[in-house]
Parts: sequence; C-alpha cells; structure tokens
Amino acid sequence: MQNKRVMLKLSGEALAKPEGGYNEDKVRDIAKQLKPSLGAGTNIGVVIGGGNYWRGRTSEAIDRTKADQIGMLATIMNCIYVSEIFRSEGIDTAIFSAFPCGDMAEVFSKDRVNERFKEGKVVFFGGGTGHPYFSTDTGIVLRAIEMDVDMILLAKSIDGVYNADPKVDPNAKKYDTLTIQEVIDKRLAVVDLTASVMCLEHKMPLAVFDLNEENSIKNALDGKINGTIVTV
Ligand code: UDP
Repeated sequence: MQNKRVMLKLSGEALAKPEGGYNEDKVRDIAKQLKPSLGAGTNIGVVIGGGNYWRGRTSEAIDRTKADQIGMLATIMNCIYVSEIFRSEGIDTAIFSAFPCGDMAEVFSKDRVNERFKEGKVVFFGGGTGHPYFSTDTGIVLRAIEMDVDMILLAKSIDGVYNADPKVDPNAKKYDTLTIQEVIDKRLAVVDLTASVMCLEHKMPLAVFDLNEENSIKNALDGKINGTIVTV
C-alpha cells in the first residue's frame, strides 16, 4: 500500500557524526530516498529530535523548563540544516515551528501546512510541541494526528522493536507487529508513554525500522517495512 501522507521521525543523534557536526552524506541519502514518493504525490512531514545538540539536561543552575527550551530550539536548528540539504538536492521544503522564530520558520497552522503539502513540499515540524516536559515523540504524534497522517515512520538506529535490549540480552526477540496497547502495557521503547497513549486514543499507527539499512526509508514509503509495525 502506498501511504498518502506520512510523518518521518529522525533523531538528532542519527544525523550527527560521532566526532560532532552533521553527517551530510546521510542527510543527502535521506533526501534521495524521499524523492520518488514525493514525485508520486505522497505528502511527507519530517520531525527531527535535538539530541545531537542537547537533551533536557538539568543541573543546579538550569531547571527543566529552561533545559527543554534549549532542546526545542535545537530541533529548529536541525530542521534548518536538513531543509537546506534537501533543497540542494532539488526538494522544495517548508519549515513550521511550534513558536515564533522570526523569518526562520512559519508558526504552525494546519491550513498553511496543507497549502505547503499541496505545493509538493516536504514540511518540517520544528520546536516539538512548544512546551517543556514533552518530547519530539509527543510532538510528532501531535502533528501527525492534527495533519491526518496515515502512519508515522520512526527511522531509528535499531531495526525494530524488541522485547528486551538486544545489546544487553542476546535472546531478545524482535516483533514483526504488535499493538500500541502492548507497547504501553510492556513499556516497550517505541515512543514515550505520553506519545504512545496519544497514538492509542487517536488510532495512529507507527512503523519502526533501521535508518542505517540501505533504502529503508524509501522502502517504508513504498509500504515495505523491514522492522516492526505497531497497529492500533
Ligand atoms: N523538547 C521539549 N518539548 C517538546 C519537544 C522537545 O521540551 O515538545 C526538548 C526536550 O528537552 C528534549 C529535547 O527537546 O529532550 C530534544 O528532543 P528529543 O529528546 O525528543 O530529541 P531526540 O532524542 O529524538 O534527538
């Protein structure tokens, strides 16, 4: 089945090189994988985490709200970078933010996002939900629900959802499919609990696959998920 509207989540860390800075080759490869589906009329939204810059770090000097504000701004920087690389690969893009960012991004509006999708643009959703104590997991689920997305694609550094951490437990078993209720009951690492409950309530399916497997994003866009499908 060809999805008509999908949301793709990339973690900030997945875009970074181990020694720091962006992995431009990887971002270019992602752009190339998106192009055929975009050309075929699929609407593609992108949410990027901020873990390459910052992840909710608190200390005696920095409280959670301020740390999360830095994290949200980091996601905007990632959107600007990836959007520019996509443009240099011939993809039209638009960036929306949960909060005003001057002329760097438009403030999120469902109507305006729909206009950009109609223009054939890849739409970036930066700034998460715009609120501390949330994550980009919650941000992507919220926007996916608002934008009537068919499925959320989670491109991770692991090839699916396991019943235990395969790095720790050699007997860990990968699920081909499972329900969002099972994800919640077993506290499986797909998206965080807040985001999982929103998927359950609003019937939003998810797919988890390995970002580093060749053409995994293109295959997922074509409905061929070599990973785990989370049904609702
Ligand atoms: N964040 C937030 N509210 C949101 C989304 C993100 O406060 O709605 C902050 C939070 O500090 C989080 C950071 O932004 O730790 C980066 O997001 P995330 O951890 O989801 O990024 P990833 O780990 O996927 O790169």
